[in-house]
Amino acid sequence: MRISWPHMGSLEFVLGSVFEELGLDYVLPPPNSQRTLELGTRYGPEFACFPLKTTLGNFIEALEEGADTLIMVSGKGPCRFGFYAETQRRILEDAGYDFRMVMLEFEPNRIPATVRKLKELKQGRPWRSVIGAIKFALSKAYLIDRLEQQALHQRCLDRERGATTKALERCYRMVWEADSYAALRRVEREAFELLQSVPREEREAVKIGIVGEFYLVLEPFFNLGVEEKLGNLGAFVERSVYLTDWLRPSGNNPVAGHHDREVEEAARPYLTHFVGGEGLRSVGATVLYHRLGYDGVVHVMPFTCMPETIAKSILPRVSRDLGIPVLSIVIDEMTGKAGLATRLEAFVDLARFRKRAGDAGLDYSLQPAF
Ligand code: SF4
Repeated sequence: MRISWPHMGSLEFVLGSVFEELGLDYVLPPPNSQRTLELGTRYGPEFACFPLKTTLGNFIEALEEGADTLIMVSGKGPCRFGFYAETQRRILEDAGYDFRMVMLEFEPNRIPATVRKLKELKQGRPWRSVIGAIKFALSKAYLIDRLEQQALHQRCLDRERGATTKALERCYRMVWEADSYAALRRVEREAFELLQSVPREEREAVKIGIVGEFYLVLEPFFNLGVEEKLGNLGAFVERSVYLTDWLRPSGNNPVAGHHDREVEEAARPYLTHFVGGEGLRSVGATVLYHRLGYDGVVHVMPFTCMPETIAKSILPRVSRDLGIPVLSIVIDEMTGKAGLATRLEAFVDLARFRKRAGDAGLDYSLQPAF
């Protein structure tokens, strides 16, 4: 059995580490690329969510690399995501690929079936080892989330553009190679030292929060490097979602730093109920960013994403009421890097202008232009 799964931010560290620990065969799809996108859009339905197409591209590339078993979460929700696995299975079968799709469902009444599937996937490894491997992988992912957060905060001060990104890539390798908790503790110390040793220059930074659909927020290739671009434009960046916060069911979100209840409470004047995906969180996190003194919010969403379309229709009112600029970016296969760069540049300029005016005690009650 050669198992594979699609890319999503640092997910490869979690699952890759589990498979390595257990000594199971797996295929990591080639890194996301223009070809991944072309394959996904060639085979995926035009009206489908953008992430369905990109992950379909990952599956095709994994099958080309010899994978024969694909794993994907599925279920009733929280939006169209629950139907990805079945849709992709049918598309790939129609295209003539020979494989097995293992759909993992986590609704309470589907747990026994999911356990049976996991039993097959673990291929005789003891449950104790599986649980140990998952815990270790989550520790790695948690460290990666915190390293990425450090990079988001400091990139704006890089003396040499790209230095933080290079250091972060080295950190990823160090975390990947750690093979015990003791090694991981050492890597944690060394990786933070490495990031913090990147030469900096003191300069004024604007604070920008990123909200939006989970996959796009986490996947740098398909969000066209929005975090890095903002950092390079001089923005201290924070994200509303991190992988391990999402994986933990507690709602505590220790990396992002705000409990789900706090986000829902903050959203309440504008949106009182769950609308699927991260729609509610996008609204609530925007309000929280305002309270925390951020200078602007960038909202990223895939084209045709239902929950984020709802959030997008509400955010202009949040922006007007609170006086915080919000830029919604809708991404699909047609989105160009150059256009995005120009919009981000204009947005950071606007946020900086408003911050300076505010710091100088001037009335800057212009209406946000985005
Ligand atoms: S959150 Fe949006 S893009 Fe993601 S699966 Fe749901 S509808 Fe599609």
